[in-house]
Amino acid sequence: MSDLAERLAEVDARIADAARAAGRDPRALTRIVVTKFHPASIVDELYALGVRDVGENRQQEFTEKAREVGALDGLAWHFIGQAQTNKARAIRAVASVVHSVDRARLADSLDAAGEGMPPLDVLLQINLTDDPGRGGVAPDGLEQLAAHAAGRPTLRVRGVMAVAPLDESPAAAFERLAACSARVRTVVPEATWISAGMTADFAEAIAAGATHLRIGSAITGPRPTPR
Ligand SMILES: *Cc1c(COP(=O)(O)O)cnc(C)c1O
Repeated sequence: MSDLAERLAEVDARIADAARAAGRDPRALTRIVVTKFHPASIVDELYALGVRDVGENRQQEFTEKAREVGALDGLAWHFIGQAQTNKARAIRAVASVVHSVDRARLADSLDAAGEGMPPLDVLLQINLTDDPGRGGVAPDGLEQLAAHAAGRPTLRVRGVMAVAPLDESPAAAFERLAACSARVRTVVPEATWISAGMTADFAEAIAAGATHLRIGSAITGPRPTPR
C-alpha cells in the first residue's frame, strides 16, 4: 500500500471509530480530502483510491487544479476558502459545493453566476471567533443571511460550516456550531449539513454532529510550502 493509501485508510478507520462512539452511522458522513498546496496529481491518486470529494481553499488553485485533473466521473470539488465576489463565476464553474458563503453579496454573486446552471449547494460559514477578520458571518447575522441566500433562485442552502477557533476547545466550539445549525434550520428546514472537523479535531466534530469533514494533512501528509 502507498503511504497515501495507508493514511487514508487510517483516517477512515478513525472516522468510523468516532462515529460509532457517538452512536452515528459512519456512512452518513462525507469525508472531503483537502488537497491544497499539493499538485493536481494527488487528486488522481486519491480518485484511484476511491475518494470522490476534494476541497480547496484558494480560487486560483481550485480553478487550475480542476482544469489539470479534468473530468472524473463522480468527483465533487468543494470550495472551502474565503471567496471574493469577483471570483464567483470561476468558483461556480468548478464547485459542487461552496462551504464559505458568509455575506449576502457573495450569495448574490454566486447566484448571478449560475444562470442556466443546476442549483449550487452552499453552506453558510460562521465565524466562531471574536475576530471579525476571520472568515464567516457573525452568529447574530445568521438567520438574516440564511433567508437571503435561500431566496437566491440558483442556490440551495444545505447547512453551515465553521473552523474551530485556536483558543477554545474544539468540542465547545462545535457545540456552538450545532446550535447555529439549529437556528438556520428554523429558516431553511432542509439545511441539515454541518461542515466541521479538520485533521486536529474531526473526532470532536463528529461527536457534535458534523456531517461533512474537511481533512487535509492527516491524509495528504505535510503540505508543501504555498506557491
Ligand atoms: C486547510 C483546511 C482544512 C484542512 O486542514 P488540515 O488541518 O490539514 O486537516 C480544512 N478546512 C479549511 C477551511 C482549510 O483551509
